[in-house]
Amino acid sequence: MDTPHTAHWPARIAAGALACLGLATLPAQAKTVQCHVNYGGEDRVLWASPTTTPLATASVEVGSYFLLRLVNTLSATQQPAFKVYVYASHESGPAPIHAASHSPRQVRQGTGHGGFTGVQRVYEPLRDGELTYWCERTSAGQRTRAQGAASTAAPTAAPISAPIAPRVTRETPDDRLPKATSAYRDTASQPAQPGVVRLVMVGDVMLADGPGQTIANGGDPLALFDAALHSGDHTLGNLELPVATVGKPLESKIFSFRADPQVMRVLKGRFNALSVANNHSGDYGQEAFLETLQHLSTAGIAQVGGGRNLTEAHKPLWIRQNGLAIAVLAYNEFKPRSFEAGPDWPGVAWSEDDRVVADIQAARRAGADVIIPFMHWGWERERQPTDRQRQLARLMIDAGADLVVGGHPHVTQGVDTYKGKLIVYSLGNFVFDSFENVPGGQTGWLLRLTLDKNGLLNWDTLTAQMDLAGTPHPVPGAWSPCGQATATRNPVAKTPNLGSVRLARASNLARCANP
Ligand SMILES: [Zn+2]
Repeated sequence: MDTPHTAHWPARIAAGALACLGLATLPAQAKTVQCHVNYGGEDRVLWASPTTTPLATASVEVGSYFLLRLVNTLSATQQPAFKVYVYASHESGPAPIHAASHSPRQVRQGTGHGGFTGVQRVYEPLRDGELTYWCERTSAGQRTRAQGAASTAAPTAAPISAPIAPRVTRETPDDRLPKATSAYRDTASQPAQPGVVRLVMVGDVMLADGPGQTIANGGDPLALFDAALHSGDHTLGNLELPVATVGKPLESKIFSFRADPQVMRVLKGRFNALSVANNHSGDYGQEAFLETLQHLSTAGIAQVGGGRNLTEAHKPLWIRQNGLAIAVLAYNEFKPRSFEAGPDWPGVAWSEDDRVVADIQAARRAGADVIIPFMHWGWERERQPTDRQRQLARLMIDAGADLVVGGHPHVTQGVDTYKGKLIVYSLGNFVFDSFENVPGGQTGWLLRLTLDKNGLLNWDTLTAQMDLAGTPHPVPGAWSPCGQATATRNPVAKTPNLGSVRLARASNLARCANP
């Protein structure tokens, strides 16, 4: 955790910008307008009906940072017109950053994606964030999408997560993830086939504070996800704190976590491995970190992304099962770097680009069929990945990674592909409390991957909704990302120096309903 996000909206934005619009109502034949808004993977839909007046106008908050307001009115020529205002949340209050007028009559309906407005991009330099919106005309009561396939949620019931990767050029401007059939979701619960390994991954597991109290009281914060954690052949998570009785909190940190060793009882038997490559492993110093490694070892849980020295910290976690060799590499790149492992001292693996590339190439040479970097990266509370995350993910895939999975921002950050390889930028929190005031901070994903020697076969996510104590709850019916691989047009590619043939695959991006 870091500096709290202070942005919040006043109950009502001053109506000054709207005062000049008058209170006209539209002709009876005018249509309802429906606008689709996205920021950082968060989708919202809002409507303005012909009877809407400027002072009772539709508005929607996106990503806790943007506010979009949709006003219908009459133009100077008495034609229907719709105005869109976008405000950004700044320290001094909401700042208008975009205003535009659109008329549904300007563009013939059904002429492709983007409705009558086209896809509008509103860039906000302070946040380096970009909001996109587009509007279409619909008949009153017919609140459905005109193009593509995606949410038809009611205006106040936005989907829990409808991730897309912003600022990615695609063939069509309307790039929200389509809904998928359930065909490949089912495979995650079927018995493993020869040559296939199913891997379950979760984000931050923080077992101090609320979750620690639950455990101290005899509870089990992981109970509701017990079945899901066991739904694969191998389960991996990020242990976001030391588990120890020794050590002192680092004075340089605002938040220092340490869990009582009794928490091992909820981890044991559920996780085969835990990443310690994060910004909290060193919160109580080297001695506590070493005690953590000992508790993991005693519980039969492997660690990855940290160790007693630099070599051990960069050693892959090898999963050898069903004739498949999977190498998982874990790295932290969120401060403090002072807890990086050294030649002869303990600590975590730091994601120095050259070293990461060398580790991936070494794992391939050592016989890995599938290589998965598990990253601790990105800005906290940001709903979209940074340029650094995008750049490093691509670098790792270019070096040979088969997919990339990340965490740390405390929110999910959408999914993307590069060269057909899946990137899950952030799984969000999984067990963590104190995020009730952070939009998206109480929602995480459990990721299920089905892998064979050519990489990713299919994957899906299960939504985890944390309560005030940090206990994750399943959300049946929630839509979350999923996808499956298909052979590309050039289906067979030689992997240099290995003599084996690897099938080139491309993973699609879709959304599946949680069971
Ligand atoms: Zn973290």
